[in-house]
Amino acid sequence: MDDVRNVVIIGSGCAGLTAAIYAARANLKPIVIEGYEPGGQLTLTTMVENYPGFPEGILGPELIENMRKQAQRFGAEFQAGAVTEVDFSRRPFTITAAQTSYRANALIVAAGASARLLGLESEKQLMGHGVSTCATCDGFFFRGKEIAVVGGGDSAMEEANFLTRFASRVHLIHRRNEFRASKIMQERVRGNEKIRVVTPAVVERVLDPGKGAVEGVELRDLKSGKTSTLQLEGIFIAIGHDPNTKVFRGKLEMDENGYLITHHGSKTNIPGVFAAGDAQDHHYRQAVTAAGSGCMAAIDAEKFLEAEKLA
Ligand code: NAP
Repeated sequence: MDDVRNVVIIGSGCAGLTAAIYAARANLKPIVIEGYEPGGQLTLTTMVENYPGFPEGILGPELIENMRKQAQRFGAEFQAGAVTEVDFSRRPFTITAAQTSYRANALIVAAGASARLLGLESEKQLMGHGVSTCATCDGFFFRGKEIAVVGGGDSAMEEANFLTRFASRVHLIHRRNEFRASKIMQERVRGNEKIRVVTPAVVERVLDPGKGAVEGVELRDLKSGKTSTLQLEGIFIAIGHDPNTKVFRGKLEMDENGYLITHHGSKTNIPGVFAAGDAQDHHYRQAVTAAGSGCMAAIDAEKFLEAEKLA
């Protein structure tokens, strides 16, 4: 507790780890609090083919492990656990995680966002093996294949449309007959002959965890109550994301969906607190943009500490 850190980084996905690499190389000896999902969303995916520098692609967990080792090599420390409390009322800030309190002159929030899931055991078992939460990342693997998208918002419409570039057919499964997506996005979906709308229906099981690959889904028609099997090779869950920012409510400025608001790079409304990655970006949500914003946050934190003569 007596030890005041230069920088504490909350989150160990692409944004947090890139911030850690930059902060460590600036000799700020950062500590990274890993959070509920160490490594973030990339640990839920298999092959990443759009992260620059890997012409053959790289496995998501491997990319994260490499970033972590790179940060450790320059002196970043890691602490397991999620943040349960923060006190920004005075500096140094206090951050509590896993019953331990840390004091820090600067803080980088890179707590990420979590894709909402249906909550099925089979969905969890096949994640990265035909179940995906990111069309931009994984669409390419479904060339010529029959797949489904679940959801009725703009994300589901956008992903369904995007996926028709690759897939032979996209079934858009939604639990209601009405879509909450904007009219224009709905029209694009309805005008796309490769998309078949399946409503009102819910996925009850993804098949087949025993085979280690997606072979279809068990669907329940909510009007008739009947269940049926739809053969598929992939399924994209597009039912929204939740930023991991609850602990900052009332302390950091956020939009109505809980995404942190940043200005002039990575600055939040509290001087000395910076935000990076999906916790503040619901638009791009890419590994490379998260990494880029992590770099920005570390540079902004370094400049802040220098200006305040704290490091
Ligand atoms: P969203 O608007 O919250 O929509 C989530 C969808 O998933 C809803 O249709 C919801 O169904 C369904 N859903 C939620 N939980 C479910 C569950 N457990 N099982 C089955 N279905 C479930 O999320 P989003 O589409 O990610 O959009 C988030 C925000 O980003 C929105 O403001 C959106 O406009 C914006 N966005 C904009 C664009 C664009 O303009 N290009 C693209 C993407 C996102 P119900 O409708 O029945 O609740």
